[in-house]
Amino acid sequence: MSVFEPPETQVYEIIGRERPGRWVISCDHASNAVPPEIGGGSLGLTEAEMGRHIAYDLGAAGVTRALADALGAPAVLSRFSRLVIDPNRGENDPTLVMKLYDGTIVPGNRHLDADGRDVRLARYYRPYHAALADVLAARADPVLVAVHSFTPKLVGRRPRPWQIGILHAEDARLAAPFITLLRNDQSFGAWVAEVSGVPLCVGENEPYAGHLPGDAIDRHALQHGRMNMLIELRHDLIATPTQQEDWGTRLAGLLARALHEAPASLQADRAAGTAAQ
Ligand SMILES: [Zn+2]
Repeated sequence: MSVFEPPETQVYEIIGRERPGRWVISCDHASNAVPPEIGGGSLGLTEAEMGRHIAYDLGAAGVTRALADALGAPAVLSRFSRLVIDPNRGENDPTLVMKLYDGTIVPGNRHLDADGRDVRLARYYRPYHAALADVLAARADPVLVAVHSFTPKLVGRRPRPWQIGILHAEDARLAAPFITLLRNDQSFGAWVAEVSGVPLCVGENEPYAGHLPGDAIDRHALQHGRMNMLIELRHDLIATPTQQEDWGTRLAGLLARALHEAPASLQADRAAGTAAQ
């Protein structure tokens, strides 16, 4: 058997491919699955470790589905753990296949050589990106929204105060009006305070700063001049299907309003910044 034999199951899932409109939702870290052709389905970690945020973004897949349904948009979700290979890294990023993550050594990756990495690129990473590229290319002027979740606390670090973080690079056409809406919409603010027990705290380029060259937003949006944004939700707030549905539905309403307010072109955005001249 060739090492480049395709895996037995699709390495991605597309929902609502036929749905019209500009929105496309992606979920790079939807699954903690380790396919059977990798170490017999194990990277050598316990079930408890594979259930942590190091293996996938807890709750993000459910929010992605709810958001896509509410917007009437397609979504593309990965079906392999980020520990197999991380779709949200450039192909040359040293953290593409993690050997150590948040205090956990990943035995199945420890001795992975360049050939082993190339197999994972060919079988998982590139098919996922090809699927997302296809869905985006099938619509005029698409808008990409990536859904992720973050852990309330990394090992040995302070708790993170945000319930939601919005990440954007230089092109903040969508992110800027969306952040304004998140912070000012009273109904949303009151609801988040109720479900989280503390006042709403929206992070801008938190809990991580911006983007990396070659990451998914860079590859699929920034390099094509497409409107984009990355949403990070604290995973303890999206643990149940009901919570995922609630967040997805509420965010969809605010996203639709933000897109309505967003400047159409990057040129228009820049011109608005210098309109006083
Ligand atoms: Zn993620």
